[in-house]
Amino acid sequence: MDRGYTICDDESIADIIVINSCSFIADAMEESIQTIIEMGAYKETGQLKGLIVTGCLAQRFPQDILKDLPEVDAVIGTNSYDELVKTIDEVLANKGTKPVVLKDFKGLPRNGRRVLTTGGHFAYLKIAEGCNKRCTYCIIPYIRGDYRSVPMEDILLEAKELAEAGVKELILVAQETTVYGQDIYGKKSIPDLLNKLCEIDGINWIRILYAYPEEITDELIQCMASQPKICHYIDMPIQHCNDTLLKKMGRKTSKADIMAIADKLKKAMPDICLRTTLICGFPGETDEMHKELLQFISDMKFDRLGAFAYSREDGTVAAKMDNQVDDEIKNLWKDEVMALQKEISLQNNEGFIGRELDVFIEGKLVDEGVFVGRTYRDTPSVDGFIFVSADQELESGQFIKARVNASEDYDLIGEMI
Ligand code: SF4
Repeated sequence: MDRGYTICDDESIADIIVINSCSFIADAMEESIQTIIEMGAYKETGQLKGLIVTGCLAQRFPQDILKDLPEVDAVIGTNSYDELVKTIDEVLANKGTKPVVLKDFKGLPRNGRRVLTTGGHFAYLKIAEGCNKRCTYCIIPYIRGDYRSVPMEDILLEAKELAEAGVKELILVAQETTVYGQDIYGKKSIPDLLNKLCEIDGINWIRILYAYPEEITDELIQCMASQPKICHYIDMPIQHCNDTLLKKMGRKTSKADIMAIADKLKKAMPDICLRTTLICGFPGETDEMHKELLQFISDMKFDRLGAFAYSREDGTVAAKMDNQVDDEIKNLWKDEVMALQKEISLQNNEGFIGRELDVFIEGKLVDEGVFVGRTYRDTPSVDGFIFVSADQELESGQFIKARVNASEDYDLIGEMI
């Protein structure tokens, strides 16, 4: 904006469209490519003059994108977002070349003042970039580099600016949030960061995503339990429970470790909402291992759970492993996991009937007097909602109290009290 450009959310009138792509798994790549093709069509139907692809797909396959998708005018890698405006200038100057901007993974891709695209009342706060772990299925360290924490003063400044702009919920993200600070402060510093974020006026909720189980410390649990602004919610991707498979995945945790950490979290915060992610059909997974996983899910009763069919990514160790599982089996196992989780989610939700919860209002349904909100158990886009009836007008971004009257598989239904 400072350089004379205006951000708009209508692709049909945009001169430049920037697509932030993903290449984590095959489905995400496919979605990114589809989006590029769809947006490229605005060169014919709209007033599009330049299509720029950023993010992981751009970092991983810059030349393939330019060769196979001629509608793309420039690619910008994951550590080069600060070059975006310069690249837009170049594309609009139309010198007949297609810029490829790729930097090494030293430093952080910072881009000055933050522009909010989440709707105004919640914001993701990126606290680090890259990852030092080397899970054998994962391409991320190769396209985002080693772990680099954002200095705490920069995060706090950004959080204060977001709060001044009306943000009430901060969602902490990184490839892994739990080792924040280790590289620049010599110790895991997420509790210090959280304590300081809690001091910011205007912020009501702070939520932590992508916590590696083994890295969750007693200090972090204690901080979460004692700070009222921190949601009793943690996203802790475990990928599987079978020890042989976890080892082959390059994970540093065992089934016993996962159970122990979940137990600690529940003891410290009996109302903790545990979210996890699982991979179905990793090379070498057998029917017995899959059954073990189903039993584990039944026993653990995660509040939230997402499952993915293993995606064989070129350049990873797991892609070269023997005993790759057929796509059909992978998808069948994934569907079985999700069907089981649906039952568990409903049971968990039924346990909330009659309880009073704080609700963060997000919007209104077409039906008269019904508002959509989230409780501390709901991360935007990945978890559920609570539908609240109220006999007064509620604003998006408002916190209210609601009593839960009914539940669905993933959502709750309640009334304002
Ligand atoms: S910890 Fe996460 S980002 Fe890092 S290698 Fe493993 S799966 Fe990838």
